[in-house]
Amino acid sequence: MRLALVGWPVAHSKSPAMHRAALAELGLDGTYEVLPVPPGGLSGAVGALRDAKVDGFNITVPHKQAVRSYLDHEEPIATRIGAVNTVINLGGQWVGTNTDAEGFVRGLREASIDPAAPTLVLGAGGAARAVVAGLVDAGAAVQIAARRDAQARELASLGAEPRPWSDLEGCFERAEMVVQATSATLSDESAVPFVDSLPWSHVGSAVCVDLVYQPRPTRFIERAQTLGCTTQDGLPMLLHQGVLAFERWTGHPAPIAVMRAAL
Ligand code: NDP
Repeated sequence: MRLALVGWPVAHSKSPAMHRAALAELGLDGTYEVLPVPPGGLSGAVGALRDAKVDGFNITVPHKQAVRSYLDHEEPIATRIGAVNTVINLGGQWVGTNTDAEGFVRGLREASIDPAAPTLVLGAGGAARAVVAGLVDAGAAVQIAARRDAQARELASLGAEPRPWSDLEGCFERAEMVVQATSATLSDESAVPFVDSLPWSHVGSAVCVDLVYQPRPTRFIERAQTLGCTTQDGLPMLLHQGVLAFERWTGHPAPIAVMRAAL
């Protein structure tokens, strides 16, 4: 079984460790290769993957949208989100799907966090789109706010209510869960001003989730914990999107404990 990860940059990714551990645990003869593919290099990489007859691959930034034009079929969830993170080779036909939405919801449920709670999502990029789709499917009323209001409005088609960034106080007050889906918490330089600008006095007892998982804890998680909020970082989402992909590729139940330990 030949599996791969395509993205740029990908050297830091935790997915190879997770999937290689799963293959080894099940005694499957397989590889999970890392393919660093810079912007503009997707066409060549896709050709190589076709020639190599890979059984499937994960695809991450910046290619989650561009890969769609190389697929034979796309599942409805990927079409709704507008991005593919997993490709499965079914008898030579490439099928694109998106396991981020369900992966996110599974991560919440596993921690006994209600995915149907009224939720505010901060940020409106690709990850936010997947989270909104997952939460709306789980029955949540979702508000979405992004520093560019127009970007938030694009998510109305997924069933979220766009709210102006200038009304974050009201959004925090109404939310029982706040999902940090921007990339601001990846580095201290952007995390500190971003986190300081949020209206924490209105957070109440909302569950606070940050999709970012490095550094651990992120500044967002740290602040929420200081205020006594229940928190979750991005690792459960990463784990469960991987579990779902692994099961699609192999047809075997994924060894979740082993994959979690590898992460
Ligand atoms: P995108 O680049 O598509 O979107 C990033 C979003 O963050 C945009 O809305 C952007 O706004 C906003 N943003 C960036 N900096 C700031 C800031 N300082 N203040 C306010 N908004 C800001 O990235 P993704 O959606 O793909 O990923 C977002 C984060 O989620 C990443 O950091 C990634 O690590 C994490 N992630 C985690 C996953 C997991 O499995 N746990 C899966 C996928 C992603 P603008 O466009 O205006 O810059």
